[in-house]
Amino acid sequence: MYQKMEKISVVVSCYNEEKALPLFYEEMERVRKQDFDGIVDFEYIFVDDGSKDNTLQIMKELHSKDSKVRYVSFSRNFGKEAAMYAGLEASKGDYVTLMDADLQDPPALLKQMYNAIKNEGYDSVGTRRVTRKGEPPIRSFFARMFYKIINKMSSIEMVDGARDYRLMKRKVVDAIISLKEYNRYSKGLFSFVGFKTKWIEYENVERVAGETKWSFWKLFKYALEGITAFSTTPLILSSLLGLIFCLVAFIAIIFIIVRTLAFGDPTPGWPSTICIVVFVSGIQLFTIGIIGQYLSKTYLEVKKRPIYIVRETEND
Ligand code: UDP
Ligand code: MG
Repeated sequence: MYQKMEKISVVVSCYNEEKALPLFYEEMERVRKQDFDGIVDFEYIFVDDGSKDNTLQIMKELHSKDSKVRYVSFSRNFGKEAAMYAGLEASKGDYVTLMDADLQDPPALLKQMYNAIKNEGYDSVGTRRVTRKGEPPIRSFFARMFYKIINKMSSIEMVDGARDYRLMKRKVVDAIISLKEYNRYSKGLFSFVGFKTKWIEYENVERVAGETKWSFWKLFKYALEGITAFSTTPLILSSLLGLIFCLVAFIAIIFIIVRTLAFGDPTPGWPSTICIVVFVSGIQLFTIGIIGQYLSKTYLEVKKRPIYIVRETEND
């Protein structure tokens, strides 16, 4: 009996990827024909995250050549997290894979990922880089530190080197879509929804063309996002710090009272007083800053702004 073939949706977020996108499409098509022909259908969902170059033009050309290609174009740059969310919402496949346009997520791994879901009973397959070849050492160092810190602070496990590249069953995709928060930190969201996940490891691949969109500062802010979105430990730490300082102050007061009673009151010590005042106000500003971080995130959530705004799709 004729049975409808299952479908994989390939979701690709693109920001100024005019150089990389055609190469991506070519390579992906090669892999599809080689590994998946007659086994499973494909659709491409290219999400143009407000690119300023010809990325959208290229998507349109690919769409007119190949009906498997669909696209969503944003009204401005909303960030990769928003682009991935839009792609997941637009996807219709029984399976969805999230990929970068720069071929840093090797399409050749897809077959292995698909088999893990089809034959080994997994719901989702993630990938992680075991090396960070081609990355500035200082960036790798901070990335490692970040994973150490966040895993201590959060009950949700974040896998070091995990990429956004993954293949998921529809069920997992729907679970992700149901998380409508505005501050999206995908690595955490994927852990949060759970399901049986297999990890495939591979060596880092450098981008084929174009440039990375992540500056150190952007990554730093993204790291803070991850921490505030998945842990309230910094809030607890700041309360603890306050408590410790109260204790120290209390002990100091007792010490001064006893000393005054025993030896009288010889007034020196004002430089040390200033040091203490400066130190304590520093700590206060620091903890207020932490609280501010959470407050600002709450503020953005409460406004319930849309995660992205579409300017056009292939249906227009
Ligand atoms: N990207 C995006 N919106 C952004 C920044 C990046 O959709 O605001 C896309 C980008 O086009 C690429 C993927 O996210 O497909 C990963 O970005 P990039 O390769 O620059 O990051 P890296 O691999 O260097 O971490
Ligand atoms: Mg990249």
